[in-house]
Amino acid sequence: MARIVIVSNRIPATSPKGPQAGGLAIGLKDCLKDGGLWFGWSGDISAQTSTDAKISHTGKIDVATIDLSREDYKKFYVGYSNSTLWPLLHFQPGLVEFDRAQFETYLSVNHAFARALAPLIQPSDIIWAHDYHLIPLACSLRALGVKNRIGFFLHVPFVPASLLSVLPRADKLMHMLCTYDVVGFQTHQHLRDFEDCVRNFLNVPIEPDASIGIDNHPLRAIATPIGIDARAFARQAKRSAQSRVTKRLEESMVGRALIIGVDRLDYSKGLPNRFEAFGRLLDRFSEHRLKVSYLQVAARSREDVAEYQRLKRDLDRRAGEINGRHAEFDWVPLRYITRAVSRATLAGFYRKARVGLVTPLWDGMNLVAKEYVAAQDPDDPGVLVLSRFAGAAEELTEAIIVNPLDSDEIAEALHQALTMPRAERKARHEKLFEKICRTTAASFCRDFISALLGESCGADHITTTLVPTATRS
Ligand code: UDP
Repeated sequence: MARIVIVSNRIPATSPKGPQAGGLAIGLKDCLKDGGLWFGWSGDISAQTSTDAKISHTGKIDVATIDLSREDYKKFYVGYSNSTLWPLLHFQPGLVEFDRAQFETYLSVNHAFARALAPLIQPSDIIWAHDYHLIPLACSLRALGVKNRIGFFLHVPFVPASLLSVLPRADKLMHMLCTYDVVGFQTHQHLRDFEDCVRNFLNVPIEPDASIGIDNHPLRAIATPIGIDARAFARQAKRSAQSRVTKRLEESMVGRALIIGVDRLDYSKGLPNRFEAFGRLLDRFSEHRLKVSYLQVAARSREDVAEYQRLKRDLDRRAGEINGRHAEFDWVPLRYITRAVSRATLAGFYRKARVGLVTPLWDGMNLVAKEYVAAQDPDDPGVLVLSRFAGAAEELTEAIIVNPLDSDEIAEALHQALTMPRAERKARHEKLFEKICRTTAASFCRDFISALLGESCGADHITTTLVPTATRS
């Protein structure tokens, strides 16, 4: 049995204390249940970026980390990863910053990852890198002579060639991405957009279900959605619903219906429009005044990035404005929390919420949508209102699907959800629950690893292999 080596920018065990917000750790828990190596940034800043990894152990998992210098942290993490790639891959070209020095640091930090990782690799290992921070990693590992199978999964969306062309050096990035043996995406749409980029940037024709080869190196690209352990989360929600903290929430609602939103405080999550939509619900459907409260958990994230600071100020202002306009002395319509809440606590909150409001402008998958569905009481479930631009919308078609830019449409969806008869809620929930039990964290890991081992994966997955590239310029 091959050892699995996971590489990601952040390592769950080394993240700051307190509840963690972020889908990566949740999705990969299953993958290392029998042990393996997890490699990444320690989260610490040192005088120099490390050349050797520090090794520690968490249960059966070996954890290897390196520190980054302040300069590398700023240019690699705050800069190119989160101020260039993140906005681009979330379809926000207006927010994309580009600085050539940051791009060079992005490459050199990937090289530093590779240099520290390569001595730890055993011949039979398979290596699985995660997310947009690490696109060049396979290239760097190959340059150091690593011959193992290397896969890459993109947790965020991918963009069509017309949008990727906004990015300086996009062709170089595409070449580096295509150095991997397997590249995975959350949805079929992201996979189609990747194929579009391969065609346009690498001048490689693609046959459906055929093979792609770049420099005679076959590449397999697959779509395999990340998920959660839905049944375990459902059990957790049932337990958490009885907890003291959930009881406190329930008592504070005094019989009112709860709408819940849970996100990192990120501009891709569509929070300003969502706040606006809630205000419109109260303006246009006045029967809900005094009858409903909206709890938004917006866990602060990437506070070093200027755009996130601007967003927080904007949301603080909007929350104050909505409450100032609508609140009564005994009713706060919008409850807005910018601290992370533990996932176990959230499970109970989801179960008590009549509506799960998930309206990102663009999102790779969105696990909160799946958690909300998993947490519901099947006999009296709440309703999911879901952005059509969340990866989850490709599967969760029985949610009320909305365009997150249209605050009126979201307000109407909220009204529909709040007034939906129980029979319809149950029918929708049954189908949704069945779907989230099919594509789980375990199936995600199993399918990706199968592809990386060169085995066939489930029928739902498009496999594309690119053809030889004599034609490539
Ligand atoms: N989460 C959490 N506490 C919070 C906010 C979020 O535990 O205060 C968890 C949430 O339950 C989910 C994950 O963080 O499991 C967020 O994943 P998602 O795919 O929705 O978004 P991402 O943050 O990865 O963009």
